[in-house]
Amino acid sequence: MTAPRIAFDNSYARLPDRFFARQEPVPVAAPRLIAVNAPLAQRLGLDAAALAADPALLTGNRVAEGASPVAQAYAGHQFGGFSPSLGDGRAILLGEVVAPDGARFDLALKGSGPTPFSRRGDGRAWLGPVLREYVVSEAMAALGVPTTRALAAATTGETVWRERPRPGAVLTRVAASHIRVGTFQYFAARDDREALAALLDYTIARHYPDLTDAPDKAAALFAAVLGRQARLVARWMSLGFVHGVMNTDNMAVSGETIDYGPCAYLEGYDPAKVFSSIDTGGRYAYGNQPRAAAWNLGQFGSALVPVMGDEQAAVDRLTAILQTFPEVYEAEWLRLFRAKIGIATEDPGDRELVETLLTRMHAADADFTRTFRGLATGAAAAEFADPKGFEDWARDWRDRIRAEPAPEALMRRTNPALIARNHQVEAMIEAAVVGDYAPFERLNRALASPFDVQPGTGDLAARAGADEEVTQTFCGT
Ligand code: AMP
Ligand code: MG
Repeated sequence: MTAPRIAFDNSYARLPDRFFARQEPVPVAAPRLIAVNAPLAQRLGLDAAALAADPALLTGNRVAEGASPVAQAYAGHQFGGFSPSLGDGRAILLGEVVAPDGARFDLALKGSGPTPFSRRGDGRAWLGPVLREYVVSEAMAALGVPTTRALAAATTGETVWRERPRPGAVLTRVAASHIRVGTFQYFAARDDREALAALLDYTIARHYPDLTDAPDKAAALFAAVLGRQARLVARWMSLGFVHGVMNTDNMAVSGETIDYGPCAYLEGYDPAKVFSSIDTGGRYAYGNQPRAAAWNLGQFGSALVPVMGDEQAAVDRLTAILQTFPEVYEAEWLRLFRAKIGIATEDPGDRELVETLLTRMHAADADFTRTFRGLATGAAAAEFADPKGFEDWARDWRDRIRAEPAPEALMRRTNPALIARNHQVEAMIEAAVVGDYAPFERLNRALASPFDVQPGTGDLAARAGADEEVTQTFCGT
């Protein structure tokens, strides 16, 4: 068996030493493959079969030729409080793979052992969060949401202690990059302007090459990142997705969703909904996500100021850009929710039409995903205990979509039939812990085509029963 060839080109590891700590993964007792994501491997130009035959590579027991493993340095605001030193405490960036079409992707291991950034952590991950991230990130990708991806998962044959003994696992994560708002904050906190300038240039070259010659590069990057984040959060909102831990170290400047920790999807529509056990103040509640993103962008702006010349002038320029957030976000939100109710044109009454539906869904505790999907199939009213609340709205709505070109088709490709329902994800993890990976495989297969009608997936599309409902989620990594 020849080892898989990976076309590494490790530009991040060529940045100055203080961007990272060189760190090899720490080998585990008994690497065993759970899954390799064949379509993603193909996208990257990797041989899925060769990867699958080499689980040692997927736990870090062997480092692929051409990799230059590093633990990345970053800081971050966690629930509003600033930590100047976080960094990869249980992850390692192996390097960057350049795909056949020239696109560059980070290849990283999560759960690969302690690093200089581990603080009191063990550097490991257990099977539950590894499989949750695999399933939910791949489901988000299939929904068309910018996201990090899962290339592989493997068990370690070791026990990890998380209140009780758990099976250890490693996730192989693929990302446009792992540069976070917190990466900028790390250098800003040290007043390391040279590093900040290098990071700015690197980020532009890698993610926003159109801005290379912009006269005010930092402000241009700020506006571009703001645009991607506003659109990303609008996408989450349009799917009922609650990220759960929107700290600045979990906000990627590429505009991808990163860090699937305590994330969950709404069932009954409720803007105040919180799942994460540690989010006691509801800072990252469903309806607060746009505000949290804007707050994080404010921190990003602060970190850019030191490389922007005159401080007051810089703050003024960045503030003016930050003030565009609500407008950019609201426009995208409305575009997405219009599509969700079958509207491709624009009418001044559309926002109110959408908001009235949401208000009634809230009052009726109607399932977010099933109600929107049900608009195209005629099943939406059934999500309301008292269908009158829906029918009153639906009269206005039917009037509005009468002149629309193809509302039903639009709704069917906008509103998924299947999302990674929280209780299904939990049941999948419970089965995997006792060695049954069939639910994991079934979920991955079904969620790869979330907009299609798939016979035999009725249980996956159903709302959780009262005894199955997930009310709380845990970082529990
Ligand atoms: P997260 O909330 O998952 O984004 O993690 C926040 C910080 O805690 C990051 O710096 C992680 O590297 C670190 N961390 C989380 N879990 C562990 C662990 N098991 N061992 C070491 N560091 C960890
Ligand atoms: Mg994180």
